[in-house]
Amino acid sequence: MLSVAEALERVLSGVPVLGAESVTLAEARARVLAEPVVAAREIPPWDNSSMDGYALRAVDTVAASADRPVVLQVVGEVTAGRVAVQALGPSEAYRILTGAPLPPGSDAVVPQEDVHRDGARVTVRKAVEVGAYVRPRGEDIRPGDRILEPGTVLRPAALGVLAALGHARVTVHRRPQVAILSTGDELVDPQAPLGPGQIPDSNSYTISGLAADAGAVPRSLGIARDRREELIERLRAGLQADVLVSSAGVSVGDRDFVREAVEALGARIDFWQVNMRPGKPLTFGRIGECLFFGLPGNPVSSMVTFELFVRPVLRRLGGYRVLNRPRVRARALEPIDNPGSRPGYLRVHLEPGVGHLGARPTGQQGSAILRSMLLADGLAVVPGDTKIPKGGEVDVILLLNDGTVSLEV
Ligand code: AMP
Ligand code: MG
Repeated sequence: MLSVAEALERVLSGVPVLGAESVTLAEARARVLAEPVVAAREIPPWDNSSMDGYALRAVDTVAASADRPVVLQVVGEVTAGRVAVQALGPSEAYRILTGAPLPPGSDAVVPQEDVHRDGARVTVRKAVEVGAYVRPRGEDIRPGDRILEPGTVLRPAALGVLAALGHARVTVHRRPQVAILSTGDELVDPQAPLGPGQIPDSNSYTISGLAADAGAVPRSLGIARDRREELIERLRAGLQADVLVSSAGVSVGDRDFVREAVEALGARIDFWQVNMRPGKPLTFGRIGECLFFGLPGNPVSSMVTFELFVRPVLRRLGGYRVLNRPRVRARALEPIDNPGSRPGYLRVHLEPGVGHLGARPTGQQGSAILRSMLLADGLAVVPGDTKIPKGGEVDVILLLNDGTVSLEV
């Protein structure tokens, strides 16, 4: 049976990065940059004041002291969005507000709280240094600076920099389209009343959510019954997507027809099992250009296999530089037990401790116990037949980054 690492390598091999499209800056949040951004202008575009005060020539104030104050003549005012036309002469000052360009001839600003103003005169009691309270032109960004690399996720700060550089649009990678099919005779839509033996289809929702979180555009194909012909028809409807994901029907049960159905559609199956827990029955193959994942049906198994295999593929397609979730070392706050020979991916809650993170299992680890996913900040990676003792160290794949742990994802 393939290991998780071998399976991931096979899954990722030959996956292309999707092409680019242009979006407005307003649409660009969380998209992935497709080309480098090189600054074509300076930020800030001119020397400007960082305080409300007076722009002056530092040379006029060198001799200023409490005993021998220097008096300057206020010859005008410049506010943000305006420019001073008249150059500053000797012993002259300009009233200036934060963000306003420095008037020609001036080279420093004295904050208003450091001077005394009386009519058109301002009294300075201390020498002002050249450049004081001046934000020099280009101090933040210079033309030619390479500001952003392809594969960068456009977070708010990046949007701000793009706006400041005057970009109205930005070139980003196309988002992968993911078609999602739930399979099983027992499944009904969540709003439907439950008949005997029926359960709501929850995988459609978890998988759509995971796909969207991975930067993809999910599209639900609904629920297919456990019938070969119906499966073929429903799966066929997803073949235009970049990735087709089904759940359930991939074990060895009498009604597990998914593999047959994708083979009937011409799939080249690469593998159908991975050595892991939860989630051993995982089918991967290609149907033409479309990548096919047949995830296991159990709610946790489908989420964990999605995390480990589908998510990196979606991120590769979407142009992300980083494909995998970050891993952290944590200390077990309770024993973390992985009975059985398969490597385990166990749901844990992370708690900040002094100098380390603590990891605590979120509860029962059965592959149908979706509730324990609710509390999971990560998946502890535990070798087969291993019990991490309390206080022992364990690797944890971070699922969330909602403030529990501060790490770049
Ligand atoms: P299967 O792989 O078809 O044997 O399904 C394994 C388990 O997962 C069964 O208990 C199914 O009822 C359950 N299951 C399959 N699909 C879903 C789904 N879409 N939502 C919730 N549970 C499911
Ligand atoms: Mg089934």
